[in-house]
Amino acid sequence: KEEKLICIGCGATIQSEDPQAIGYTPESAIKKGLENNELYCQRCFRLRHYNEIAPVSLTDDDFLRLLNQISDAKALIVYVVDIFDFNGSVIPGLHRFVGNNPVLLVGNKEDLLPHSLRRSKLADWMRQQANLNGIHPDAVALVSAKKNRQVDDLLELIEKRRQNRDVYVVGVTNVGKSTLINQIIKQTTGVKELITTSRFPGTTLDKIEIPLDDGHQLIDTPGIIHPDQMAHVLSDQALKIVAPQKEIKPRTFQLDEQQTIFLGGVARFDYEYGPKKGVVAYFENNLNLHRTKLSNADAFYEKHLGDLLTPPTMDEKDSFPALERHEFHVDVKSDLVIEGLGWITIPADATVAGFAPKGVSVIIRRAMI
Ligand code: GDP
Repeated sequence: KEEKLICIGCGATIQSEDPQAIGYTPESAIKKGLENNELYCQRCFRLRHYNEIAPVSLTDDDFLRLLNQISDAKALIVYVVDIFDFNGSVIPGLHRFVGNNPVLLVGNKEDLLPHSLRRSKLADWMRQQANLNGIHPDAVALVSAKKNRQVDDLLELIEKRRQNRDVYVVGVTNVGKSTLINQIIKQTTGVKELITTSRFPGTTLDKIEIPLDDGHQLIDTPGIIHPDQMAHVLSDQALKIVAPQKEIKPRTFQLDEQQTIFLGGVARFDYEYGPKKGVVAYFENNLNLHRTKLSNADAFYEKHLGDLLTPPTMDEKDSFPALERHEFHVDVKSDLVIEGLGWITIPADATVAGFAPKGVSVIIRRAMI
Protein backbone atom coordinates (compact mmCIF):
# COMPACT_ATOMS: atom_id res chain seq x y z
CA LYS A 1 0.00 0.00 0.00
CA GLU A 2 1.09 3.55 -0.65
CA GLU A 3 2.24 5.74 2.17
CA LYS A 4 1.25 9.40 2.21
CA LEU A 5 4.21 11.76 1.84
CA ILE A 6 4.17 15.22 3.36
CA CYS A 7 6.23 18.30 2.45
CA ILE A 8 8.27 19.32 5.49
CA GLY A 9 7.97 22.96 4.42
CA CYS A 10 4.23 23.51 4.17
CA GLY A 11 2.68 20.22 5.24
CA ALA A 12 1.00 19.62 1.87
CA THR A 13 0.55 16.06 0.67
CA ILE A 14 3.20 15.35 -1.94
CA GLN A 15 1.87 14.46 -5.40
CA SER A 16 3.53 14.26 -8.80
CA GLU A 17 0.53 14.26 -11.14
CA ASP A 18 -0.54 17.90 -11.34
CA PRO A 19 2.21 20.53 -11.56
CA GLN A 20 -0.29 23.33 -10.92
CA ALA A 21 -1.74 21.80 -7.77
CA ILE A 22 -0.62 21.93 -4.17
CA GLY A 23 2.19 19.63 -3.14
CA TYR A 24 3.47 18.99 -6.65
CA THR A 25 6.91 17.44 -6.66
CA PRO A 26 8.56 15.74 -9.66
CA GLU A 27 9.18 11.98 -9.19
CA SER A 28 12.94 12.46 -9.32
CA ALA A 29 12.81 15.09 -6.59
CA ILE A 30 10.70 12.83 -4.37
CA LYS A 31 13.33 10.13 -4.64
CA LYS A 32 16.12 12.56 -3.87
CA GLY A 33 14.20 14.17 -1.04
CA LEU A 34 13.59 10.81 0.60
CA GLU A 35 17.24 9.88 0.25
CA ASN A 36 18.33 13.08 1.95
CA ASN A 37 15.50 12.87 4.45
CA GLU A 38 14.46 16.34 3.34
CA LEU A 39 11.33 16.16 1.24
CA TYR A 40 9.97 19.50 0.04
CA CYS A 41 7.28 20.16 -2.52
CA GLN A 42 8.46 22.03 -5.57
CA ARG A 43 7.19 25.38 -4.36
CA CYS A 44 8.91 25.15 -1.00
CA PHE A 45 12.02 23.85 -2.70
CA ARG A 46 12.05 26.90 -4.95
CA LEU A 47 11.45 29.19 -2.02
CA ARG A 48 14.38 27.64 -0.25
CA HIS A 49 16.62 28.08 -3.21
CA TYR A 50 15.45 31.49 -4.25
CA ASN A 51 18.30 33.35 -5.87
CA GLU A 52 20.63 30.49 -4.96
CA ILE A 53 20.44 31.70 -1.36
CA ALA A 54 19.05 28.80 0.61
CA PRO A 55 16.62 29.94 3.29
CA VAL A 56 16.36 27.63 6.24
CA SER A 57 13.83 26.76 8.85
CA LEU A 58 14.24 28.16 12.32
CA THR A 59 14.96 24.81 13.89
CA ASP A 60 18.07 24.41 11.78
CA ASP A 61 21.28 24.47 13.85
CA ASP A 62 22.98 26.52 11.20
CA PHE A 63 20.37 29.15 11.45
CA LEU A 64 20.75 29.45 15.21
CA ARG A 65 24.48 29.77 14.72
CA LEU A 66 23.89 32.57 12.26
CA LEU A 67 21.65 34.35 14.71
CA ASN A 68 24.26 34.05 17.42
CA GLN A 69 26.86 35.56 15.14
CA ILE A 70 24.65 38.53 14.58
CA SER A 71 24.02 39.03 18.27
CA ASP A 72 27.78 38.87 18.92
CA ALA A 73 28.59 41.28 16.12
CA LYS A 74 28.66 45.04 16.35
CA ALA A 75 26.15 45.65 13.62
CA LEU A 76 23.24 47.63 12.35
CA ILE A 77 20.31 45.30 11.74
CA VAL A 78 18.11 46.18 8.81
CA TYR A 79 14.90 44.22 9.30
CA VAL A 80 12.81 44.10 6.13
CA VAL A 81 9.07 43.47 6.38
CA ASP A 82 6.27 43.36 3.82
CA ILE A 83 3.85 46.02 5.05
CA PHE A 84 1.06 44.29 3.22
CA ASP A 85 1.80 41.17 5.29
CA PHE A 86 3.31 42.35 8.54
CA ASN A 87 2.39 39.28 10.53
CA GLY A 88 3.80 37.01 7.84
CA SER A 89 7.05 38.99 8.08
CA VAL A 90 7.67 38.36 11.76
CA ILE A 91 10.89 36.50 12.56
CA PRO A 92 10.17 34.55 15.73
CA GLY A 93 12.77 35.31 18.38
CA LEU A 94 14.37 38.15 16.43
CA HIS A 95 14.54 40.30 19.55
CA ARG A 96 16.74 37.69 21.23
CA PHE A 97 19.47 37.74 18.65
CA VAL A 98 19.42 41.44 18.01
CA GLY A 99 21.38 41.86 21.24
CA ASN A 100 22.30 45.46 21.84
CA ASN A 101 22.47 46.23 18.16
CA PRO A 102 20.31 48.99 16.73
CA VAL A 103 17.46 47.94 14.44
CA LEU A 104 16.24 49.77 11.39
CA LEU A 105 12.76 48.59 10.45
CA VAL A 106 12.09 48.74 6.72
CA GLY A 107 8.52 48.42 5.43
CA ASN A 108 8.68 47.25 1.82
CA LYS A 109 5.92 47.21 -0.83
CA GLU A 110 4.82 50.69 0.14
CA ASP A 111 3.39 51.02 -3.38
CA LEU A 112 0.54 48.64 -2.51
CA LEU A 113 -1.06 50.81 0.17
CA PRO A 114 -3.51 53.59 -0.65
CA HIS A 115 -1.94 56.97 -1.36
CA SER A 116 -4.38 58.55 1.05
CA LEU A 117 -2.86 56.72 4.01
CA ARG A 118 -0.47 59.11 5.76
CA ARG A 119 3.02 57.62 5.74
CA SER A 120 3.88 58.98 9.20
CA LYS A 121 0.81 57.24 10.57
CA LEU A 122 1.85 54.03 8.84
CA ALA A 123 5.34 54.27 10.33
CA ASP A 124 3.85 54.66 13.81
CA TRP A 125 1.66 51.64 13.25
CA MET A 126 4.68 49.60 12.12
CA ARG A 127 6.62 50.62 15.18
CA GLN A 128 3.74 49.57 17.39
CA GLN A 129 3.44 46.19 15.64
CA ALA A 130 7.19 45.65 16.03
CA ASN A 131 7.01 46.51 19.73
CA LEU A 132 4.42 43.77 20.20
CA ASN A 133 7.11 41.35 19.02
CA GLY A 134 9.75 42.74 21.34
CA ILE A 135 11.51 44.75 18.64
CA HIS A 136 12.20 48.40 19.38
CA PRO A 137 13.45 49.93 16.17
CA ASP A 138 15.71 52.97 16.26
CA ALA A 139 14.22 54.11 13.00
CA VAL A 140 11.46 53.15 10.58
CA ALA A 141 11.63 53.52 6.80
CA LEU A 142 9.15 52.86 4.03
CA VAL A 143 10.28 51.79 0.57
CA SER A 144 9.13 50.18 -2.61
CA ALA A 145 11.99 48.00 -3.76
CA LYS A 146 10.18 47.10 -6.94
CA LYS A 147 9.45 50.68 -7.95
CA ASN A 148 12.75 51.90 -6.56
CA ARG A 149 10.99 54.40 -4.32
CA GLN A 150 12.82 55.85 -1.31
CA VAL A 151 15.63 53.32 -1.64
CA ASP A 152 18.14 56.18 -1.81
CA ASP A 153 16.65 57.64 1.39
CA LEU A 154 17.04 54.26 3.02
CA LEU A 155 20.70 54.09 2.01
CA GLU A 156 21.26 57.51 3.50
CA LEU A 157 19.57 56.44 6.70
CA ILE A 158 21.71 53.30 6.84
CA GLU A 159 24.86 55.40 6.41
CA LYS A 160 23.78 57.74 9.16
CA ARG A 161 22.88 54.98 11.59
CA ARG A 162 25.54 52.36 11.08
CA GLN A 163 28.43 54.31 12.60
CA ASN A 164 31.37 52.12 11.75
CA ARG A 165 29.45 48.90 11.84
CA ASP A 166 28.62 46.11 9.43
CA VAL A 167 25.04 46.04 8.21
CA TYR A 168 23.00 42.82 8.35
CA VAL A 169 19.86 42.70 6.26
CA VAL A 170 17.38 40.15 7.61
CA GLY A 171 13.88 39.11 6.57
CA VAL A 172 11.61 36.17 5.84
CA THR A 173 11.16 34.97 2.25
CA ASN A 174 8.72 36.89 0.03
CA VAL A 175 9.07 40.25 1.74
CA GLY A 176 11.09 41.49 -1.24
CA LYS A 177 14.51 41.35 0.37
CA SER A 178 16.21 40.14 -2.82
CA THR A 179 14.55 42.88 -4.85
CA LEU A 180 15.74 45.43 -2.31
CA ILE A 181 19.28 44.04 -2.20
CA ASN A 182 19.44 44.17 -5.97
CA GLN A 183 18.41 47.83 -5.92
CA ILE A 184 21.00 48.55 -3.27
CA ILE A 185 23.69 46.83 -5.29
CA LYS A 186 22.74 48.85 -8.36
CA GLN A 187 22.89 52.09 -6.43
CA THR A 188 26.04 51.42 -4.43
CA THR A 189 28.30 49.52 -6.78
CA GLY A 190 26.66 49.98 -10.14
CA VAL A 191 27.67 46.49 -11.17
CA LYS A 192 25.59 43.43 -10.34
CA GLU A 193 28.53 41.06 -10.64
CA LEU A 194 30.25 42.64 -7.68
CA ILE A 195 28.32 40.42 -5.26
CA THR A 196 30.61 38.06 -3.47
CA THR A 197 29.00 34.95 -2.08
CA SER A 198 30.74 33.52 0.91
CA ARG A 199 29.71 31.51 3.90
CA PHE A 200 28.98 32.38 7.46
CA PRO A 201 31.84 30.74 9.38
CA GLY A 202 30.84 27.47 10.98
CA THR A 203 27.66 27.14 8.93
CA THR A 204 26.65 25.99 5.47
CA LEU A 205 24.70 29.18 4.86
CA ASP A 206 25.60 31.50 2.05
CA LYS A 207 25.73 35.21 2.54
CA ILE A 208 26.15 38.06 0.16
CA GLU A 209 28.49 40.86 1.07
CA ILE A 210 28.31 44.29 -0.47
CA PRO A 211 31.36 46.40 0.31
CA LEU A 212 30.69 49.75 1.96
CA ASP A 213 33.01 52.74 1.74
CA ASP A 214 35.01 52.24 4.92
CA GLY A 215 35.86 48.54 4.69
CA HIS A 216 32.61 47.46 6.31
CA GLN A 217 30.05 45.27 4.60
CA LEU A 218 26.37 45.17 3.96
CA ILE A 219 25.51 41.52 4.45
CA ASP A 220 22.43 39.87 2.99
CA THR A 221 21.43 36.92 5.17
CA PRO A 222 19.44 33.93 3.90
CA GLY A 223 15.68 34.45 3.75
CA ILE A 224 13.84 32.67 6.51
CA ILE A 225 10.79 30.58 5.68
CA HIS A 226 7.63 31.66 7.43
CA PRO A 227 5.48 28.56 7.02
CA ASP A 228 2.09 30.22 7.52
CA GLN A 229 2.22 32.34 4.39
CA MET A 230 -0.38 32.01 1.67
CA ALA A 231 2.53 31.55 -0.76
CA HIS A 232 3.06 28.04 0.60
CA VAL A 233 -0.52 26.92 0.04
CA LEU A 234 -1.54 28.27 -3.36
CA SER A 235 -0.38 27.19 -6.81
CA ASP A 236 1.86 29.62 -8.70
CA GLN A 237 -1.08 30.39 -10.95
CA ALA A 238 -3.42 31.17 -8.07
CA LEU A 239 -0.75 33.24 -6.36
CA LYS A 240 -0.51 35.47 -9.41
CA ILE A 241 -4.21 36.27 -9.06
CA VAL A 242 -4.32 36.95 -5.32
CA ALA A 243 -0.97 38.68 -4.79
CA PRO A 244 -1.51 42.42 -5.08
CA GLN A 245 0.35 44.07 -7.94
CA LYS A 246 -0.81 47.68 -7.73
CA GLU A 247 -2.10 50.15 -5.20
CA ILE A 248 -5.00 48.50 -3.42
CA LYS A 249 -8.40 50.08 -3.87
CA PRO A 250 -10.30 49.59 -0.61
CA ARG A 251 -13.75 48.05 -1.12
CA THR A 252 -16.52 48.93 1.34
CA PHE A 253 -19.47 46.66 2.14
CA GLN A 254 -22.53 47.68 4.16
CA LEU A 255 -23.01 44.30 5.79
CA ASP A 256 -25.94 43.08 7.80
CA GLU A 257 -25.41 40.57 10.57
CA GLN A 258 -25.30 36.99 9.32
CA GLN A 259 -23.74 37.86 5.97
CA THR A 260 -20.68 36.33 4.33
CA ILE A 261 -18.10 37.59 1.88
CA PHE A 262 -16.14 35.06 -0.15
CA LEU A 263 -12.64 36.11 -1.22
CA GLY A 264 -12.52 34.19 -4.46
CA GLY A 265 -12.52 30.59 -3.28
CA VAL A 266 -9.42 30.96 -1.13
CA ALA A 267 -10.92 32.51 1.97
CA ARG A 268 -14.17 33.62 3.57
CA PHE A 269 -15.39 36.23 6.03
CA ASP A 270 -18.52 35.91 8.17
CA TYR A 271 -20.07 38.94 9.82
CA GLU A 272 -21.81 37.18 12.68
CA TYR A 273 -22.94 40.04 14.90
CA GLY A 274 -22.14 43.72 14.98
CA PRO A 275 -23.23 47.23 14.13
CA LYS A 276 -24.35 48.16 10.64
CA LYS A 277 -21.33 50.34 10.01
CA GLY A 278 -19.67 48.92 6.96
CA VAL A 279 -16.52 46.85 6.65
CA VAL A 280 -13.62 47.70 4.35
CA ALA A 281 -11.79 45.01 2.40
CA TYR A 282 -8.14 45.35 1.32
CA PHE A 283 -7.30 42.68 -1.23
CA GLU A 284 -5.84 42.50 -4.72
CA ASN A 285 -8.17 44.57 -6.93
CA ASN A 286 -8.81 41.67 -9.30
CA LEU A 287 -9.77 39.21 -6.57
CA ASN A 288 -13.53 38.70 -6.81
CA LEU A 289 -15.35 39.41 -3.53
CA HIS A 290 -18.73 37.74 -3.40
CA ARG A 291 -21.37 38.53 -0.80
CA THR A 292 -23.97 35.98 0.30
CA LYS A 293 -26.15 34.97 3.25
CA LEU A 294 -24.27 33.20 6.01
CA SER A 295 -26.93 30.52 6.32
CA ASN A 296 -26.40 29.62 2.69
CA ALA A 297 -22.63 30.07 2.57
CA ASP A 298 -21.51 26.43 3.02
CA ALA A 299 -23.78 25.21 0.25
CA PHE A 300 -22.78 28.12 -1.97
CA TYR A 301 -19.09 27.30 -1.55
CA GLU A 302 -19.68 23.65 -2.31
CA LYS A 303 -21.59 24.52 -5.46
CA HIS A 304 -19.51 27.37 -6.86
CA LEU A 305 -15.89 26.62 -5.90
CA GLY A 306 -13.91 26.78 -9.12
CA ASP A 307 -16.40 28.87 -11.11
CA LEU A 308 -17.84 31.90 -9.29
CA LEU A 309 -15.43 31.38 -6.44
CA THR A 310 -11.98 31.26 -7.99
CA PRO A 311 -9.06 30.74 -7.52
CA PRO A 312 -8.72 27.78 -7.23
CA THR A 313 -9.66 26.78 -10.78
CA MET A 314 -11.96 23.85 -11.62
CA ASP A 315 -8.88 21.68 -12.12
CA GLU A 316 -7.36 22.68 -8.82
CA LYS A 317 -10.40 22.63 -6.61
CA ASP A 318 -10.32 18.94 -5.70
CA SER A 319 -6.82 19.20 -4.30
CA PHE A 320 -7.46 22.57 -2.66
CA PRO A 321 -7.22 22.41 1.15
CA ALA A 322 -10.45 22.81 3.12
CA LEU A 323 -11.05 26.19 4.74
CA GLU A 324 -10.65 26.38 8.51
CA ARG A 325 -12.77 28.69 10.63
CA HIS A 326 -11.36 31.17 13.18
CA GLU A 327 -13.80 33.20 15.27
CA PHE A 328 -13.10 36.52 16.98
CA HIS A 329 -14.90 39.18 18.97
CA VAL A 330 -13.47 42.70 18.91
CA ASP A 331 -14.18 45.62 21.24
CA VAL A 332 -12.37 48.20 19.09
CA LYS A 333 -12.06 48.80 15.37
CA SER A 334 -9.71 46.08 14.12
CA ASP A 335 -8.36 44.27 11.09
CA LEU A 336 -9.14 40.64 10.48
CA VAL A 337 -6.02 39.54 8.61
CA ILE A 338 -5.79 36.55 6.31
CA GLU A 339 -2.09 36.17 6.15
CA GLY A 340 -0.58 37.04 2.81
CA LEU A 341 -3.96 37.68 1.22
CA GLY A 342 -5.11 40.93 2.81
CA TRP A 343 -7.47 42.11 5.52
CA ILE A 344 -10.93 43.39 6.36
CA THR A 345 -11.37 46.31 8.73
CA ILE A 346 -14.27 45.68 11.08
CA PRO A 347 -16.04 48.08 13.44
CA ALA A 348 -15.96 47.88 17.25
CA ASP A 349 -18.22 45.41 19.05
CA ALA A 350 -18.39 42.85 16.27
CA THR A 351 -18.18 39.08 16.21
CA VAL A 352 -16.66 37.74 13.01
CA ALA A 353 -15.10 34.62 11.58
CA GLY A 354 -12.28 34.33 9.05
CA PHE A 355 -11.79 31.17 7.01
CA ALA A 356 -8.51 30.26 5.30
CA PRO A 357 -6.86 27.13 3.94
CA LYS A 358 -5.37 24.95 6.66
CA GLY A 359 -1.92 26.29 7.50
CA VAL A 360 -2.67 29.93 6.71
CA SER A 361 -2.95 32.15 9.78
CA VAL A 362 -6.00 34.27 10.46
CA ILE A 363 -5.43 36.95 13.10
CA ILE A 364 -6.87 40.12 14.58
CA ARG A 365 -4.73 43.24 14.90
CA ARG A 366 -5.10 46.91 15.57
CA ALA A 367 -6.58 48.57 12.47
CA MET A 368 -3.88 49.89 10.18
CA ILE A 369 -6.11 52.42 8.44
P1 GDP B 1 12.51 37.68 -0.99
O1 GDP B 1 12.05 36.25 -0.91
O2 GDP B 1 12.29 38.39 0.29
O3 GDP B 1 13.87 37.83 -1.51
O4 GDP B 1 11.48 38.41 -1.99
P2 GDP B 1 11.59 38.76 -3.54
O5 GDP B 1 12.56 39.87 -3.75
O6 GDP B 1 11.75 37.53 -4.31
O7 GDP B 1 10.12 39.35 -3.77
C1 GDP B 1 8.97 38.57 -3.50
C2 GDP B 1 7.81 39.09 -4.34
O8 GDP B 1 7.48 40.41 -3.93
C3 GDP B 1 8.13 39.20 -5.83
O9 GDP B 1 6.99 38.82 -6.54
C4 GDP B 1 8.45 40.66 -6.02
O10 GDP B 1 8.17 41.10 -7.33
C5 GDP B 1 7.54 41.32 -5.03
N1 GDP B 1 8.06 42.61 -4.55
C6 GDP B 1 9.29 42.88 -4.09
N2 GDP B 1 9.41 44.18 -3.75
C7 GDP B 1 8.20 44.74 -3.99
C8 GDP B 1 7.68 46.07 -3.85
O11 GDP B 1 8.34 47.01 -3.42
N3 GDP B 1 6.37 46.24 -4.21
C9 GDP B 1 5.60 45.24 -4.70
N4 GDP B 1 4.35 45.52 -5.03
N5 GDP B 1 6.06 44.00 -4.84
C10 GDP B 1 7.35 43.74 -4.50
